[in-house]
Amino acid sequence: MKKIVILGSSGSIGTQTLDIVAKLKDSICVKGLAVRSNLRVLKSQIRKFRPKAVSMDSFIDSNNLRKWCALNNLKTTVYSGNTGVKKLATMSAIDMVFISTVGAVGFESIVSAIEAKKNVAIANKEVFVMAGNYIMNLATEKGVLVLPVDSEHSAIFQCCTDEKKSNIKKIILTASGGPFYKYDEDFSKITVEQTLEHPIWKMGNKVTVDSATLMNKGLEAIEASALFGIPVDRIKILVHPQSIVHSMVEYIDGSVIAQLSNPDMRLPIQYALTYPARFQSGIKSLNLAEVGKLEFFEPNFDKFPCLKLSYFAAKKGFTMPAVMNAANETAVSAFLNKEIKFTDIAKIVDTTMRAHIISKISSLNAFVDADYWARQYSNRLIDKGI
Ligand code: MG
Repeated sequence: MKKIVILGSSGSIGTQTLDIVAKLKDSICVKGLAVRSNLRVLKSQIRKFRPKAVSMDSFIDSNNLRKWCALNNLKTTVYSGNTGVKKLATMSAIDMVFISTVGAVGFESIVSAIEAKKNVAIANKEVFVMAGNYIMNLATEKGVLVLPVDSEHSAIFQCCTDEKKSNIKKIILTASGGPFYKYDEDFSKITVEQTLEHPIWKMGNKVTVDSATLMNKGLEAIEASALFGIPVDRIKILVHPQSIVHSMVEYIDGSVIAQLSNPDMRLPIQYALTYPARFQSGIKSLNLAEVGKLEFFEPNFDKFPCLKLSYFAAKKGFTMPAVMNAANETAVSAFLNKEIKFTDIAKIVDTTMRAHIISKISSLNAFVDADYWARQYSNRLIDKGI
């Protein structure tokens, strides 16, 4: 029986993860759950999964939940805030911490889990962009597994089991292209509502906006570079509208290995949960004759400036990716609140990156400071009307 803790259990990935856990209840059990503020969802998860401990961000929410647990005769311990998340991430007798939080806030919990020698499954790409090499070095030092949850990274992971890193010539990261890949009207008029209608993947709001600007793919390129130890100039992006090929790895002998399936997040989530074992997943079997054609295009870096910014940040390294990520998080939330235009997202990220003075110290504090600085700076840009 694999015992797991899920951080961010009320979000899109978190709830799908619990659906899979419920199906695989003979092999996996949940010992801890953390959410930011969704009390309603957490209550129903407590009833269903009976975790040993849970945590919520606010002290007031946690207090209410504690009373509710007592009233309902539930023996779940309720924690709160950062200390609560840290308690869950380092709980004894846990085999894996599944991190499905969104944004750089997940950073400290990942570090705590790895330091406590827990294997981690990470769906949170922002943290990898912020400090991916730091996390991977720490994981190697502690001897823990870092399993990717994102569909592309799971694909790459599956394409390079048992292969030497030096055999990899390049990684080919596929992208659906998002809702605006073929859009040729004025990008500055794109609305929040248009953006949230992703053609293929059903995801949380932040990642859906990132998919529309293609920042998501840029973040994924940086994430892949850290996860697999391949420099970003050997990571190529290929637009593939059908989202059947989830990514590919090309080897030095010219062989290309790809992972294919119908697009369904349950597959990479389940593989991260059960690795190295495989179980039936219930997803629709792939019928390539039915799909008919698989198309591939070069991405358009001019139409989607966030791609350029990502490669620039990755090449600069050190604190620049953290700054790019933080400015993007700030800009995306301002766009979702209808404070800025779609095209302002890239502008804010670009302006913030230009103003950043790189710190060449690879420490936890350097990344946290860079993240904080970029949030302040980009928020000021938004307040000024850019
Ligand atoms: Mg992805």
